[in-house]
Amino acid sequence: MIITTQGVKVTSLCANCDGVLVRDLGQFIERGQLRWGVEGRCAACTNAWCETGTGPAPEEVRQALLAEHGAARLRLAAKNTSLVPVLRILREMHHLSLDEARLTAADLTGPGLIGTSVEMAHLRAVP
Ligand SMILES: [Zn+2]
Repeated sequence: MIITTQGVKVTSLCANCDGVLVRDLGQFIERGQLRWGVEGRCAACTNAWCETGTGPAPEEVRQALLAEHGAARLRLAAKNTSLVPVLRILREMHHLSLDEARLTAADLTGPGLIGTSVEMAHLRAVP
């Protein structure tokens, strides 16, 4: 199953009122782009915000998703698959230099690459 959206709820203390702050952290694929979002809302006061971005998710979001849903592993089956689109996606996902992306792509054809399910789904969707 290809997972194109994944989320997790995290609670913490509200900085404004010490109430319970609920944050929705998520990663998703929209029109072929890897995106992330954070939505926070305090149960006790009006403290609320929403933040989204394209590309690599903040490490906090990734770690929360990995902790909740576990990691996904992706391996490239066909050795003759063109690595060019894969390199592009990897660089977009992790802000890697071309050399770093090449090393990461080498993992794909070897032991496999590990990340969140959405990140791996995004990679798998490479044309
Ligand atoms: Zn509050």
